[in-house]
Amino acid sequence: MSQPKTREELLQALRDRMPKSGELWKDAQDVIPRGLLSGARHFEPWPFFTAKGEGAYLWDEDGNKYIDCCMAFGALLLGHASPILKSAIIEQLQKGTTYGTPHQLEVEYAKKLIECVPCADGVLVCNSGTEATMQGIRIMRAYTGKDKIAKFEGAYHGWHDYASWSVYMDPEKIGPVEQPNAYPESAGIPSNVKDNVLVLPFHDHAFDLIEEHAAELAGVMIEPVFGNWMIPTGAEYLKKLREVTQRLGIPLMFDEVITGFRMALGGGQEYYEVLPDVATYGKIVGGGLPVGAVGCTKEMLTAVTAEVSISVSGTFSGNPTTLAAGNAMLGYLMENRQVYDEMAAKGDRLRDGFNDWSRAKGYPATMTGLGSMFQLHMKEPPITKMRDLLGQNQNALNDLQYYLRLNGIFIPWCHLAFISTAHTDEDIEQILEAHKISVEATLSLHSI
Ligand code: PMP
Repeated sequence: MSQPKTREELLQALRDRMPKSGELWKDAQDVIPRGLLSGARHFEPWPFFTAKGEGAYLWDEDGNKYIDCCMAFGALLLGHASPILKSAIIEQLQKGTTYGTPHQLEVEYAKKLIECVPCADGVLVCNSGTEATMQGIRIMRAYTGKDKIAKFEGAYHGWHDYASWSVYMDPEKIGPVEQPNAYPESAGIPSNVKDNVLVLPFHDHAFDLIEEHAAELAGVMIEPVFGNWMIPTGAEYLKKLREVTQRLGIPLMFDEVITGFRMALGGGQEYYEVLPDVATYGKIVGGGLPVGAVGCTKEMLTAVTAEVSISVSGTFSGNPTTLAAGNAMLGYLMENRQVYDEMAAKGDRLRDGFNDWSRAKGYPATMTGLGSMFQLHMKEPPITKMRDLLGQNQNALNDLQYYLRLNGIFIPWCHLAFISTAHTDEDIEQILEAHKISVEATLSLHSI
């Protein structure tokens, strides 16, 4: 298929493919601010509206089929409409969606999580990854009696006020690598929250900053793989971080909302063999329904169970519909650990296939990631840190995404992408070929 040669041709080709989505987009803008319930769903000329999902594929309202590499931002490890999860959900629906009382599925769920998550002696369940990181932060603050939380620049931990600092690496705002600036990611965040945030660079300077601020720190949080950029932290870095925080008596939290039950059954902590004190979950552990969870060590649990303990609540927290799906999901993974190696082999084939091709052509395009996670950057290797990605041509990255869409692949604008157990070898081949075509079209459009 010949590719559009100008930006206007590219956008027009997308408009022509999805007129019905265009109508729905007009309606949405009348009643929903900017027409979107999540900024991560933005597209030009408009987003496609999904009609259905099955396995590795999505169909839009105009009947176009996509190989879905977004997989609900990593929530769907088994693909869309997984029969295993569907039957668990339908069975629970007959008995009620939510009770507001304790039920047996909660105990089963907590036991499963504890069995799989190396650091967890106890578990709390909530409704999203954002709630999970809020809860994790609260546990660390209650445990230490301190307020300040250290987070890494470029890391996303949900949209709440404590986490929404220095997420998208704005070159104008990030500051020096030895001491990154803390800048809010949204309007509406009280400025004094900044007093309780320390932004760390993904660099050895972080260890000096932690040492310098040790007396005020309630905890340090990090993702085992920086999900927004698909940059793995690596065992060596995490081990050093563990050693420094342990020596200084500062709790360490792994945000495993993306990596949990994705890098391995025990997530990033199992993969890298480094144990945090607190770990947060979301996405996969809900079996396709909204969820968040926090696992922590016996010692940290004292903050939850002590006489003056933290408050734990939530109308829908641990509702039986989510936990029926979650139990089916965790149960399946516990019995089918081979899926991790299978997905990683597909991920390696995709990344190696792309990077070998791109290097041979001399293109400034690199795929990073690990296991079933990948992301394309318009930059030559090596890419090992978020600051390596500064100066990418953002317009080219956007256009790449639109070419991919025209070529039948759905990856969101932030380019973080996932393989599920439903993606076949043929799907991987198609994803790879579509990337090659789309990158060449993008480079040509931007005269790179
Ligand atoms: N932490 C990480 C690492 C995430 O990637 C996300 C969401 N992408 C969150 C927290 C927030 O999760 P949720 O969107 O479920 O609130």
